[in-house]
Amino acid sequence: MRHVNIPVFIPHLGCPNQCVFCNQRTISGVDDFVADDVRRIIDDALETVENDAEVEIAFFGGSFTGIDRTLMISLLEIAHSYIASGRVSSIRCSTRPDYIDAEILDILKKYGVKTVELGLQSTSDKVLEITKRGHNFEAELKSCQMIVDYGFDLVGQMMIGLPGSDIDSEIETARFIVSMGAVGARIYPTVVFRDTELCFMTEAGEYTSLSLDDAVRRSAAVLEVFIEAGVEVIRIGLQSSENLSDPESYVAGPNHSALGELVIGEVYYNKICKSLSHHNLSGNENITVLVSRGSLSKAVGQNKRNKLRLVEKYKNIRLGEADNIPEYGILLDINNGEIKCI
Ligand code: SF4
Repeated sequence: MRHVNIPVFIPHLGCPNQCVFCNQRTISGVDDFVADDVRRIIDDALETVENDAEVEIAFFGGSFTGIDRTLMISLLEIAHSYIASGRVSSIRCSTRPDYIDAEILDILKKYGVKTVELGLQSTSDKVLEITKRGHNFEAELKSCQMIVDYGFDLVGQMMIGLPGSDIDSEIETARFIVSMGAVGARIYPTVVFRDTELCFMTEAGEYTSLSLDDAVRRSAAVLEVFIEAGVEVIRIGLQSSENLSDPESYVAGPNHSALGELVIGEVYYNKICKSLSHHNLSGNENITVLVSRGSLSKAVGQNKRNKLRLVEKYKNIRLGEADNIPEYGILLDINNGEIKCI
């Protein structure tokens, strides 16, 4: 059954924080929020959705459980009325770790929320402090535990390349998300938006955003953690609609329309190189690398990026696809079957 998300953006409502990277109005692409519009947004979206699709209403954009309680409940009532009518099957919302407590979770449960996405960004207290998140790791641990204990699906959102962060702390964050039993994750390489504190830090030379290559490399390292644990990665990088192409908003940082594909391609490249490194190769072998059917373009990489790098390293190497290979699996054939491995 096709799954369709109807996003309802709640820009920065009720959030007293100002994380250094956040310009929520810019990120969500919504300047004003009118609660009365919510029904219209949902109705308009439903008109484009097949009747048999599995539909979810998703309150994104700010800290949903931090908005005025009456408004939050009225939004949940609206969303729940679509569940009651059978047109929508579930609700999800995104929020911060410190806006989770028993009272809030009771309300979310009552109105049929299934999934809670938590903006963790990093598990490093140093990074959380530099980025002025306003909560520490302890709050992340407690909120994740409560969300899972209440029976909600947990999705962890994390960032790459924040000030004070490095690849080790990012891998650590991904491992934490996995260890909390998350069903999904989102990976956001840090982008600098105008009028944010991160923008001022960049202009003052206190922060340097990641190059595209570094963002791809570090995101791939994190993606590998999620793949290994079987945690679905729902999104890598902001959507292009999120003002990334507007020079009035975007200042610096990894900005590529196919960032997710680049990261997935990098995972394939790393896997292929790692598999080949287990063999004592002279460089004269004929190597065939097979991946799962439908994954060849990911393995070849954007603009043949991986293929070109592999040919440079291994000369006689070709990539192909075959049945019965799991996603992200690799079947190597060296010198026509002398060595095979997955
Ligand atoms: S908590 Fe979320 S909405 Fe609030 S400032 Fe931080 S990133 Fe922006």
